[in-house]
Amino acid sequence: MELYELNLHDAISGLKDKKFSASELFASCKARIDALEPNVRAFITRTDSTPQPCENPEGLLAGIPTVLKDNLCTTGIRTTAASKILGGWRPPYDATAWKYLRESGAILMGKVNMDEFAMGNTCGNSAFGPTHNPNDISRVPGGSSGGSAAAVSAGYVPFSLGSDTGGSIRQPASFCGVYGLKPTYGMVSRYGLISYGSSLDQIGPFARTVRDLQLVMSVLAQYDPMDSSCFREKNPDFTHREDVSLKGKRVALVKEFQSFTLDAPIAEAMKKTRKVLEDEGAIITEVSLPVVAKYAVACYYALAMSEAHTNLERYDGVRLGYTVTDAAGVKEMFEEVRSYGFGSEVKSRIIAGTCLTEPSRCDEYYVAATKVRTLIAQEFARAFGETDFILQPVTPSLPHKIGEEDDDAMKGYETDLYTLPVNLAGLPGLSFFTGYALGQPSLTPPNLGGEQGGNPSAQRGLPVGLQLIGPRWSDPELLNAGVILERNLGTPKIANGGID
Ligand code: GLN
Repeated sequence: MELYELNLHDAISGLKDKKFSASELFASCKARIDALEPNVRAFITRTDSTPQPCENPEGLLAGIPTVLKDNLCTTGIRTTAASKILGGWRPPYDATAWKYLRESGAILMGKVNMDEFAMGNTCGNSAFGPTHNPNDISRVPGGSSGGSAAAVSAGYVPFSLGSDTGGSIRQPASFCGVYGLKPTYGMVSRYGLISYGSSLDQIGPFARTVRDLQLVMSVLAQYDPMDSSCFREKNPDFTHREDVSLKGKRVALVKEFQSFTLDAPIAEAMKKTRKVLEDEGAIITEVSLPVVAKYAVACYYALAMSEAHTNLERYDGVRLGYTVTDAAGVKEMFEEVRSYGFGSEVKSRIIAGTCLTEPSRCDEYYVAATKVRTLIAQEFARAFGETDFILQPVTPSLPHKIGEEDDDAMKGYETDLYTLPVNLAGLPGLSFFTGYALGQPSLTPPNLGGEQGGNPSAQRGLPVGLQLIGPRWSDPELLNAGVILERNLGTPKIANGGID
């Protein structure tokens, strides 16, 4: 076994027991990145040309390599949000989430790709080009945190960080065959996260086991006075507990979702997981979420675009990022900077957000959406009076081929139906691995993947993920349930990125 293949727990204990050194682990991960990166293209900026100093050799994450989504600020290291408008911006401060990792001894291998300003679900809306799914490099890794999911799936690093505004951790986790947690809103400090929709954004981890997510959360979930929405009670306990069981726990399916179409492997995964839950003693029930089913997508996009248009107002070429010096006047300067700097998806959302909040329409759209959001939060609160968890898909279909994105933006937005209600209600959501979909046609990309018959991960099929949702602040219980699911459904394998 190569060192890059170790999950986070095994890497930590191997280092502690001196089975190998931190520099050997670093070298193994770096060699893995060198080998796969021409196919996967997860990085925007690599910082692994020389071994980085470990800030805390006694820390929980001492010597553990990691990568960050490129919307997390890193002092002195280019941070782009995958946009041209930030130019080569080097932040003068660290995102708190990164500060906590760094102070626990983690080593930064680089900043990874995403949809520009986290707007999208393919990792294809990036000024740096698309990232490829390491399980089948002809397909999208999902988004917006596609680089973070791909890096963990390909064995670059045992864990990474992303952000989730409407599904951007959970969807790429399921597309790439890793675990991803979108924590309760307020659980992890957002200080130093480049804002998209501030009332929805939340930072969270990706890893190849659920226990590894628990470990990373124990570092991330600390109060931070720099984020006013960060929780103020005592730190939650993410320690793994062997004694937890699902016996007698209620797990609900959503009534309104039952008639929606799912790809066969996803419907199959729902059945399989339901059986696992029943065998573990859980009681399968049903909850009704009519407002979610009917209005969540419209409500989310109205709010996300409105918040985005205010958040992105700061990129005007004056104080940070890309600028022009020869414009005829201030207005012309703004126009030139923003026309060149923003990609088309970002521009259309800024324009939509401007319309939605324009004084004559604000009540009808933005304010109405905030009211619907309250109804959605109440609907979930009621549902969690009747159940402990909700089980549902992450997406209705498996990852599509790169370049086959639908031109109809609305269709792309609708595929977020299963993830974005969780953000609207501020809940925690775990994307977990359920197995590989066999019998997927044409998984081997032409001219890639070695000999005829395709590469081993292509033969294995695409990973299929599902989602478990809990009430606010139930993140530790959610992860404990995830450990039980992983024990039954199996742990994902590292994907080969089309090389062997
Ligand atoms: N796909 C959704 C959007 O584009 C969610 C993105 C995200 O969670 N950052 O808004």
